[in-house]
Amino acid sequence: MSTPTAQRTAAPENPGNLPPLPGDLYGYEQMLPAEDQDVLLRLRGWLQEHVAPIANEQWAKAEFPHHLVPELGKLGVIGLGYDRPGRPAASRLLTSFVTMELSRVDTSMATFFGVHSGLAMGSIVLLGSDEQRERWLPDMFALRKIGAFALTEPNGGSDVAGGLETTARREGDEWVLDGAKRWIGNATFADLVVVWARDVADESVKGFVVTKDNPGFSATKMEGKLALRTVQNADIVLTGCRVPEADRLQRANSFKDTGKVLQLTRGGVAWNSVGCMMGAYEAAVAYAEAREQFGRPIGSFQLIQDLLVKMLGNITASLGMTVRVAELQEAGLCSDAQAALAKEYCTSRMRETVAYAREVLGGNGILLEYDVARFFNDAEALYSYEGTREINTLIVGRAITGHGAFV
Ligand SMILES: Cc1cc2nc3c(=O)[nH]c(=O)nc-3n(C[C@H](O)[C@H](O)[C@H](O)COP(=O)(O)OP(=O)(O)OC[C@H]3O[C@@H](n4cnc5c(N)ncnc54)[C@H](O)[C@@H]3O)c2cc1C
Repeated sequence: MSTPTAQRTAAPENPGNLPPLPGDLYGYEQMLPAEDQDVLLRLRGWLQEHVAPIANEQWAKAEFPHHLVPELGKLGVIGLGYDRPGRPAASRLLTSFVTMELSRVDTSMATFFGVHSGLAMGSIVLLGSDEQRERWLPDMFALRKIGAFALTEPNGGSDVAGGLETTARREGDEWVLDGAKRWIGNATFADLVVVWARDVADESVKGFVVTKDNPGFSATKMEGKLALRTVQNADIVLTGCRVPEADRLQRANSFKDTGKVLQLTRGGVAWNSVGCMMGAYEAAVAYAEAREQFGRPIGSFQLIQDLLVKMLGNITASLGMTVRVAELQEAGLCSDAQAALAKEYCTSRMRETVAYAREVLGGNGILLEYDVARFFNDAEALYSYEGTREINTLIVGRAITGHGAFV
């Protein structure tokens, strides 16, 4: 006799009100205090009501649901991990579970969130002056202004640290930026774009906040994407783009500083991949319960159970690792290798997991209406962005052996 999934995967005693997710067998979310669980409960309800019903349609149309932005801003999850007047920073564990919950419903929405709240706001929090933080962050917390992060270039992906070609030339109180950027999420509509460029005077990499109305800035949507279709990625062209010195991130002095932002967000992509796996797993379990073949639910077949167990094992191992990364980040102790291994390991397990889910669904695994196809495709983007599997492997390999093997 079948029992509801939530009962079969019962979590330990829960101090709060957040029901355990089917993919969270060991009840990691229930480690959070009750008030943090309430934040996730509100977010989960909102996602279920407003995002889940339109996620496939938006994905198919490759359109971003702009109408949801003001409501997302009001949920209080943007920039939750940063201090702001009257509200201390939330724990790293809570902010990480926010990413997971978003991704579990819509990995594109989680990516929009990660670019804005992680990469763009994180650059300003970590590398902006006090005045710059006060000027830009309040509107970004409320999502009145949306951010983007422009590092990757047409010729500079994995080797962008050394190969950055966009130039910055100082002229009095202004800088002139010239170059091109590629793959920049949110950039077709972002109000503030953090652009990374090489200072022609000393070759150092600096960060600039460029506003969308700047006449030297243009962003064109990239077409034909088969993953994260709801995310609007852009090709950016900077032609004599004039930026006041006041809009140069005052504490970004070299690529090492850019790396501080990437280290923060790389752990976030690992969390994003856990959410993507969870979404695919839940859809596969539901399908295995509903679909009958040979006169029985396919969930009663050993080979289908084998796939579901492999999926749950991948999710659980990844979750254990990411929870520890969040704890290390909270303590300011997370190394590059620890963040890189989490990104490499979790996105690799995600790729396996979404493929198992697609297998459970048979032919329906490639139809959007069953959700798994969306998670399956979106996983491919997570696997590559913020450092490919190879690059993260090389970061960990260097930490193990002391030998850099990048070239
Ligand atoms: C959906 C999506 C969203 C993105 N959003 C943003 C964004 O908002 N902002 C931004 O700045 N960037 C963004 N990116 C860019 C992303 O970070 C890059 O795609 C990523 O860094 C890899 O670069 P690349 O695609 O140019 O691949 P390449 O660097 O050209 O790599 C191609 C292949 O070669 C391998 N390779 C490269 N060097 C080595 C080596 N030394 N040893 C072994 N193998 C190697 C890579 O692992 C990969 O398999 C996004 C990308 C995607 C797909």
